[in-house]
Amino acid sequence: MVRIGREHFITRFGPELRAVAEVEPGGTAVFETHDCWHGQLGSEDQRMKGLDFTVMNPATGPLGIIGAKPGDTLAVKVLSIRTGRTGLVSILPGDGVLGHMVKESKTRMLPIEDGKVIFDGIAISAVPMVGVMGVAASGDEAGDVSTATPGRHGGNMDTKDVREGATVYFPVRQYGALLAMGDVHALMGDGEVCVTGCETEAEVEVRVDIAKRTVLDWPAIDDGESFMIVASAEDLDKAAEEATAAAVSLISRTQDIPWEEAYMLASLAVDLRISQCVDPRRTVRAVIPHRILKRPIGL
Ligand code: CA
Ligand code: CA
Repeated sequence: MVRIGREHFITRFGPELRAVAEVEPGGTAVFETHDCWHGQLGSEDQRMKGLDFTVMNPATGPLGIIGAKPGDTLAVKVLSIRTGRTGLVSILPGDGVLGHMVKESKTRMLPIEDGKVIFDGIAISAVPMVGVMGVAASGDEAGDVSTATPGRHGGNMDTKDVREGATVYFPVRQYGALLAMGDVHALMGDGEVCVTGCETEAEVEVRVDIAKRTVLDWPAIDDGESFMIVASAEDLDKAAEEATAAAVSLISRTQDIPWEEAYMLASLAVDLRISQCVDPRRTVRAVIPHRILKRPIGL
């Protein structure tokens, strides 16, 4: 088992990444992750001023997967997510869906006890998830590959289905794939409306594998019941279009039915869900129930 400590982190999923550890396909690794502020926000009273923004949203890694090549698909099975014992949720003027209504920044410290997140005496079952997970992008991939931004390489997808038991797929763009992750939330609602979840440090254990074929051009998640395509774009409409287009194409291919038929079937059975609408690109997932896919997509 490989263990990657918090001191090994990245803030870009660029093609220049170099592995800090390696594992064979089928191997497991533990990633020790910082919270999204790199642990800099220690109390409810602390202001955002003076924080080092160059280390924000750190992703631990990267892990090289031996033998992974561009054109392969990386499968990351999330075996466990152990959160810290407290989390932080924070609002900032200008950030989030209602950022224009926020007059000053405010932070709440949230105990995470017995599998529950406590907010003002309200105990909500924790559902830990990984906000940032991705692989090194291709050199010609357009746009921003900062760990604050989601894209075809994954990154800041903030999708709550990246949780224990799920398998996350990435199109491999660089030799070794170069997997990194961070920004764990003990709890987050779809949309992540105020721009933060219950932000916490964590230890994430995963098993990695590779398929010698391309499954998709976007990251995807399989939770055992559905196959989800996770697409990101400059706004929600465009992200919905990208997710739908990928879902219809996948249904057409796996069902051996014409595109037009697949489009109609998607309208009947596929759910579009907002993953997040607060990051530099927005993320929508198309949730395809297994029962309408003739062939399994996984490895
Ligand atoms: Ca995030
Ligand atoms: Ca976060």
